[in-house]
Amino acid sequence: VSELDAPVETERVSTADGREIEVAANVGRPAELDPAVARGADGIGLFRTEFLFLDREGPPGEDEQFEAITAALNAFPGERVVVRTLDVGGDKQVPYLDLPSEPNPFLGRRGVRLSLSAHADLFETQLRALLRAAATDGGGDLAVMVPMVARVEEVEDVLERVEGVAADLEREGVAHAVPDLGAMVETPAATEMAEALAARLDFLSIGTNDLTQYVMAADRENDGVADLHDPLHPAVLRAIDRTVRAGHDGGAWVGMCGEMAGDPDLTPLLVGLGLDELSMSAVTVPAVKQRVGDIDSEAARELAGEALACETRAAVQSALARE
Ligand code: PEP
Ligand code: MG
Repeated sequence: VSELDAPVETERVSTADGREIEVAANVGRPAELDPAVARGADGIGLFRTEFLFLDREGPPGEDEQFEAITAALNAFPGERVVVRTLDVGGDKQVPYLDLPSEPNPFLGRRGVRLSLSAHADLFETQLRALLRAAATDGGGDLAVMVPMVARVEEVEDVLERVEGVAADLEREGVAHAVPDLGAMVETPAATEMAEALAARLDFLSIGTNDLTQYVMAADRENDGVADLHDPLHPAVLRAIDRTVRAGHDGGAWVGMCGEMAGDPDLTPLLVGLGLDELSMSAVTVPAVKQRVGDIDSEAARELAGEALACETRAAVQSALARE
């Protein structure tokens, strides 16, 4: 069955033996909300907020961000909507932010690093919009995650700033709530520290596009090393396995929102690795949901074990082909 032929399933899906897997959509702009609903996504696993900042002269204000976030919540009543705080720097440049020019932007000030330093003002405005949106009724359940985490200290700093914003809103008499909070796991440092991160947060979401780049030391944009930028390399699979186990040990749920999550051929492997949620471009939601229903958890765990024991990508592929 081609990815595009799978029937739309609007209900949640479980493996053949009854383990529920949340299949959510990645959304990068408001026009992608309706297609995500139409394809039967269980919610949003990654709402990228960069669109709010691009192609304009200055940053969006608090109200504009609040409107955009509530629109996403209203598209998924009763479901979880994970909004990622601004992820610029690296490959994503925004002229009016005056980001430093860096020799190695992917190893430089990007994501939460900027939110906690040069652009603390933008981060505060975004947190105000998010905490206000978390208090609105009738829509989805807001969750918020920060990108490019490498250190426990960053998460502690984020938690303090969230508390500070909540206290400000309280003082001003503005309706607000503190949403569930999570971190993207995109750096080898975060995979190593996943249990400590999870102990401080509600969830982790593995960003395999960046995690692969950093585990394999292969620029995700450089065609010359495209063969190395390979999420099926055993080194990446072991990093994912480590993260899921450590995340669960720390008491958090663990999802995946990198491209790999949307490949239905990899669904048994990812379920076997223990992921609780998979988030992907809306177009692949029906095919992944269909695939989940055919999975036997025990067989999936064995498949994951075989893949984790492999030493090469070719061996992983043979294990997947035998499945
Ligand atoms: C990722 O890195 O896997 C991810 C989902 O984030 P982005 O592709 O936006 O960097
Ligand atoms: Mg990323």
